[in-house]
Amino acid sequence: MKITDVALFRAPIAFAGTTYKLSGGRSYEALDSTLVRLETDAGITGWGEICPWGRDYLPEFAEGARAALTVMAEGLKGLDPCNPAAVNAAMDRLLMGHPYAKAAVDVACWDIFGKAAGQPVHALLGGRQAERIPMLSSLYNGTPDDMLARVEASRAEGVRSFSAKASGDPAADIEVFRAIAEARRPDETFIVDANGGWSVPAALQVLGAVDGRGLMFEQPCATLSECLGVKERMVSPFVLDESAITAEDLTQILRLGAADALHFKISRVGGITRARMFRDFCAVGGLSSFWEASGGSAVADAAAAHVAISAPAGAPHKFWSCQEYAAAAFASGGPTYEDGMMSLPDAPGLGVEVSESELEQIL
Ligand SMILES: [Mg+2]
Repeated sequence: MKITDVALFRAPIAFAGTTYKLSGGRSYEALDSTLVRLETDAGITGWGEICPWGRDYLPEFAEGARAALTVMAEGLKGLDPCNPAAVNAAMDRLLMGHPYAKAAVDVACWDIFGKAAGQPVHALLGGRQAERIPMLSSLYNGTPDDMLARVEASRAEGVRSFSAKASGDPAADIEVFRAIAEARRPDETFIVDANGGWSVPAALQVLGAVDGRGLMFEQPCATLSECLGVKERMVSPFVLDESAITAEDLTQILRLGAADALHFKISRVGGITRARMFRDFCAVGGLSSFWEASGGSAVADAAAAHVAISAPAGAPHKFWSCQEYAAAAFASGGPTYEDGMMSLPDAPGLGVEVSESELEQIL
């Protein structure tokens, strides 16, 4: 099979009035998504998506994704989408770096591969290892009362795991996380996530105030070495997120014992092909893994869900839906959410439908 055409579409995704706040004054009211449609000489179409979380969260941005995809588009024609490893190697020859942009093409290839095989993508990744995965709710930063009110609303929907975001201000953060430690029920997981927004002294101050109280700590500082310095002085389970991008990062993390769990965004690591390596790395290292798309519609959500549902059982895994704050109307299918759990139907490929007429075609 050969790729015969590459089309790009731009799709804004608004948060319907919610302002999502992260440490360091970062806030988000909408995302800018890009969809890739690959067509083939077999008449099978595949979809992929890259939707960065703004421009100041990870080294990825929507305009950069579209520029990288435009540069690579012509060189993708003639490649076999049922050989995603070869497509990834070809993309690396066409353009160095920019794994987030390449993720959209990689995901579209897996969609085609699954449709051609008549199998869901997770079957091609080794097979389903769980019927359902507990959902993780993402609690953007706010006052203690505001954050706990949102916890209560999610509890009513069966959610038992939460990623609570820091403000970056140590005094305010101590107040928030003390209140959260107090409110946590024994069967609940609460992750204190600073998204790299604290200095080492600030992290030691805040995390020291709630260490050993049943919370998990995630990416307190920007770099791996800063995070390691903090981890060494804490007893609570430690998660890395933004510091794990490349295979070299993974070997460092394992060698240094820098994490007890890793949090992955499929696009950050370069798509499903490379996420599979992260998935298996966690199994080898005995780490828990938390899965998600950085943002986007059912297309990006499904890509993350197929990798998560095929993760070897054992360590507890969690899944955040990138559609928690905005369900984009132009795509449907993929994972479903009920009673605080994510389920994934067995439709071929990603199992999603895209309504092209609602998208703005740019290539
Ligand atoms: Mg995180």
